Amino acid sequence: CGGQGPRRISMLLRVKRAALCAVAVWAAVGFAAEKRFPLDQKIVKTDAEWKKALPPEAYHVMREKGTEPAFQNKYWNNHDTGEYVCGACGLTLFSSETKFDSGTGWPSFWRPADDLNVETESDRTFGMTRTEVHCARCGAHLGHLFPDGPKPTGLRYCINSASLNFKKHDPKK
Ligand code: FE
Repeated sequence: CGGQGPRRISMLLRVKRAALCAVAVWAAVGFAAEKRFPLDQKIVKTDAEWKKALPPEAYHVMREKGTEPAFQNKYWNNHDTGEYVCGACGLTLFSSETKFDSGTGWPSFWRPADDLNVETESDRTFGMTRTEVHCARCGAHLGHLFPDGPKPTGLRYCINSASLNFKKHDPKK
């Protein structure tokens, strides 16, 4: 019966390790879920409701797919550390970590904060074929996606400041 003790201990350790592992996975998934959204929880409002809820410029860009002027918008030259969330529904869309100076006069990112949070579709307005970018949760138009961005993705998400709200990172948190 000499082996019984150590074997039980090693089994206990294995159970403990598995439990710790499960907690770590649960925490990681939970953290990601906070920034993502459940796919069945899209936000749908009527045009009249959006018009009432949004400032005029934000409404024009997000619901009428307008474009704000280059170099005359809130975030094109913002270099603070933080997150850019949807101006209509608050979903996290982009991070300062992937923002770069594109020279276009619009905030530009080489990747969304989460691929699930930003959707794309083909846009054939103004005689051009472009890829339109919108918020996956509320459908707000954000800007366009171009294949001329920097490494590592080679993508350029050209986004209107009017579609975003910036949440500056608080170093005390
Ligand atoms: Fe949104």
